[in-house]
Amino acid sequence: MPNDETKEFLASLPELEEGKTYKFKCYPGISCFNACCSDLNLILTPYDILRLRRALSQGSVEFLRLHTTMHKCEDTGFPEFHLRMNDNKARSCPFVTPEGCSLYENRPGACRMYPLGRATRPDGKGGVCEQFFIVQEDHCRGFEEKDEWTGMSWKEDQGFEAYTSSNDRYMNILARIKQRGAPVPEKMGHMATLAFYKLDEFQRFITHMRVFSRFDVDEARQKAILEDEEAALEFAMDWIELMLFESTPNLKAKG
Ligand code: SF4
Ligand code: SF4
Repeated sequence: MPNDETKEFLASLPELEEGKTYKFKCYPGISCFNACCSDLNLILTPYDILRLRRALSQGSVEFLRLHTTMHKCEDTGFPEFHLRMNDNKARSCPFVTPEGCSLYENRPGACRMYPLGRATRPDGKGGVCEQFFIVQEDHCRGFEEKDEWTGMSWKEDQGFEAYTSSNDRYMNILARIKQRGAPVPEKMGHMATLAFYKLDEFQRFITHMRVFSRFDVDEARQKAILEDEEAALEFAMDWIELMLFESTPNLKAKG
């Protein structure tokens, strides 16, 4: 999820234009294996955290305490969670093992896209335009391999598609707040932490505060939201959007 610093970094890299290809392959046994899994400044999106937590069977409070550091984003007032690296000389990722990523099937979106960076901007029609940039680091030998990729084929091969809609929607919310030119009030920042990053607590909050009594949500969706964190995250986006922007396509307050 590019923040402003990341966007600046991406803009300094060569762009992989639409239809253009690059050569790359990463596999266990390559001489630089695991060299890229340390000393990272890796921002986790709400969907990244959902997938990592689910793979680790950890509650949100435990996961955030053990594996993240939190910063408040000055221009939005929203929290930003970074993956906490190990406190060793290499600052290695807590999930890297000699065999590779121990959470490979649920690795964060940025790890999937590497060695590409992906940036998005609103397309003015409710969707986003995406751009890809090549992050070619000196230690990475994958560029000496023969497999050829476009940005889109790499994204598909790495299973990024499942991350796209949630991450893009989240980025769109941040972009709309930035357009307004003022961060959200502190209370809203706390709500965003609960709804986006503590989905298990958000589900309990919905029941405890009888949130559904104030919105038109049919029974099947209510059940899904309380049982499935992906449905809960979608509802969280609707709920926060409605509070911030007073309308959202998939959620209406009861009249
Ligand atoms: S989450 Fe996995 S792929 Fe990402 S940096 Fe850590 S070990 Fe590497
Ligand atoms: S440095 Fe490049 S080739 Fe080596 S493990 Fe990382 S992504 Fe793969």
